[in-house]
Amino acid sequence: MTETPRIPLSIEFFPPKTPEGVEKLRLVRQQLYALKPEFCSVTFGAGGSTQEGTFNTVRDILAEGMAAASHFSCIGATKATVREQLAMLKAMGVKRLVALRGDLPSGYGAGGEFHYASDLVAFIREETGNDFLIEVAAYPEIHPQAKSPASDLQAFAAKVKAGANSAITQYFYNADAYFHFVAEADALGITIPVVPGIMPITSSTQLMRFSDACGAEIPRWIRLRLQAFGDDAASIKAFGLDVVTDLCEQLRAGGAPGLHFYAMNQSAATLEICRRLGC
Ligand code: FAD
Repeated sequence: MTETPRIPLSIEFFPPKTPEGVEKLRLVRQQLYALKPEFCSVTFGAGGSTQEGTFNTVRDILAEGMAAASHFSCIGATKATVREQLAMLKAMGVKRLVALRGDLPSGYGAGGEFHYASDLVAFIREETGNDFLIEVAAYPEIHPQAKSPASDLQAFAAKVKAGANSAITQYFYNADAYFHFVAEADALGITIPVVPGIMPITSSTQLMRFSDACGAEIPRWIRLRLQAFGDDAASIKAFGLDVVTDLCEQLRAGGAPGLHFYAMNQSAATLEICRRLGC
């Protein structure tokens, strides 16, 4: 009997803002480590707003014996501060970065010495050679500020050319968007792994809010069903688990090189989806 090979997993957290949040995340991580993720990543507020929380959470993950990736956004940053932070991350033992442009809250002027994530990737390579594995973001449903789908694909290619090793996508609920993106990247000769980002569905309002902000599309049939559930949290969770497990099955069957879970500092949904997937 042949077994389905295990698909590599990674899990993303955000830095908690309170001591209670730090403790809760510690427990959540212990539960999720049962999935044996390849690495856990920690988001980084654009403009360095969560820098201390990000680095502290990364330090905790490393101390727990897991591989940690620090997200790193460059909007508004200077080369001097990025150089300093890279040195600090290297000294901490971080081997993997998720290199991003980031988004400043409205009202903040961008400033800084980097325009795009590709500038940051190039700078990291210039400054640190191959000290870090560099992940970059990819957008199967097109980044909301892109001039066109073609220019967004070129922007992705520029990050790869600048030295990215691997990519993680924005979340989506339409597997075709992912497969189409991968085929287009492939046609440009891009061979790095493009790992789909998976957002479990646990709350309707939170999902709508995030999706409006980041341009991820909630297909009509999912949106209408979530709306129809109203405040019925149990039905939303049950439906969300079915939808997202199904999506993961399609991605795995279609050859996705891994799954990156946006766990939102919660364990239950990610654990249940992975249990159903048998991984
Ligand atoms: P870029 O790749 O620089 O692209 C940004 C826009 O500029 C796109 O529209 C692109 O088409 C366009 N563009 C790029 N290069 C050029 C060029 N040369 N000429 C013209 N247009 C160009 N945000 C955070 O603040 N913190 C995080 O920790 C974080 N983690 C994330 C993790 C993942 C996996 C993903 C998918 C997103 C994450 N984000 C995070 C959100 C991300 O910062 C935003 O989506 C941001 O708007 C774009 O970042 P980027 O790195 O994709 O930018």
